[in-house]
Amino acid sequence: MESKVFFIKVENGEDISSLAQKASQLFDFANFKNVINKNDMVAVKTSFGEKGNIGHLKPPIVKAVVDKVKESNGKPFLIETNTLYIGRRTNAVDHISHAHEHGFSYENTGAPIIIGDGLFGEHDVQIEINQKLCKYAYVSGVARAANAIVSIAHVTGHLATGMGATLKNIGMGLSARGGKLAQHSGITPQILKKRCNTCGTCGRWCPVGAITMDEHYAVIDPKICIGCGECLAVCQFDAVKIAWNESTANLQKKIAEYCLAIIKGKLGKVACFNFLTHITKHCDCMDKPFEPEIADIGIIASTDPVAIEKATTDIIKERTGKDFFKDAWPNVNYTIQINYAQEIGLGNMDYELIPYK
Ligand code: SF4
Ligand code: SF4
Repeated sequence: MESKVFFIKVENGEDISSLAQKASQLFDFANFKNVINKNDMVAVKTSFGEKGNIGHLKPPIVKAVVDKVKESNGKPFLIETNTLYIGRRTNAVDHISHAHEHGFSYENTGAPIIIGDGLFGEHDVQIEINQKLCKYAYVSGVARAANAIVSIAHVTGHLATGMGATLKNIGMGLSARGGKLAQHSGITPQILKKRCNTCGTCGRWCPVGAITMDEHYAVIDPKICIGCGECLAVCQFDAVKIAWNESTANLQKKIAEYCLAIIKGKLGKVACFNFLTHITKHCDCMDKPFEPEIADIGIIASTDPVAIEKATTDIIKERTGKDFFKDAWPNVNYTIQINYAQEIGLGNMDYELIPYK
């Protein structure tokens, strides 16, 4: 059976207040109130954007969705998780401060922020999924505890996956640090000997005692390391590195498997938005401003995370006459994530597109 995908058109360069109003209209049109029961804790997942980036969805848009969740008698909170790479979103304190600097205050959005994997990414839950690439997934404990998830994704290109939207917003965006490490890298973190000053912080923090201090630098025992990634976050000297060495095919498949883990047990409790606005070749995690490469198209909504991605790519092709993500990243087959997500039962690539009237 086809999944329902709801679409509202936007004009190129439409202002933020108008986009916010349309997000609100689309919430109603897609019947997203049915996803939320009275007093549900609703995790509203978006990205606050990296410092210096301008593409992320803006607070008034998030507030419009938060208001609809409240109208539906849910209790919304904004959820994000710590990044694997070192930046302004590596730990919860910097991340929330940064979100406020980007305007995501309670006053502007109507919802508190919870960093879903704790101070340094340590708050994970292990979910058994028994998929081809991941037997277990290490996901945000807060996301797992939430009664419902509303994903608000900004559609962009991505250097490693070709395209990033709903699957990435949930699968990567709601995994804990160890989950992100497992998705991006197949090997144990490495110590950069020249930077390490043997302060010992990582050794005291490591949950399994995998790090010992040599005379001149820390040493990680790969036989003990469980890949939680926390040593990256606690080192204040940027002396812990990971190898971003996973293939694009496996990365995309792992993102889908993690998405499955996060929404496991949440049947009918996930609502997704894809914003086809300010579409750039690079994602919003890049610390640079990028101008849009194609005209704004609209907003899509669905409870099916696969159908929404397929509809997104189809609509972009139809509106531009080009395969934007393939042209942007010719060496990356971005469709792997969508095909595989369907294969593992996340949703349906067959959909009915229902335009807003
Ligand atoms: S926290 Fe960083 S500098 Fe300190 S011992 Fe560990 S790797 Fe070295
Ligand atoms: S050495 Fe391994 S187990 Fe220890 S903190 Fe680093 S990633 Fe986690």
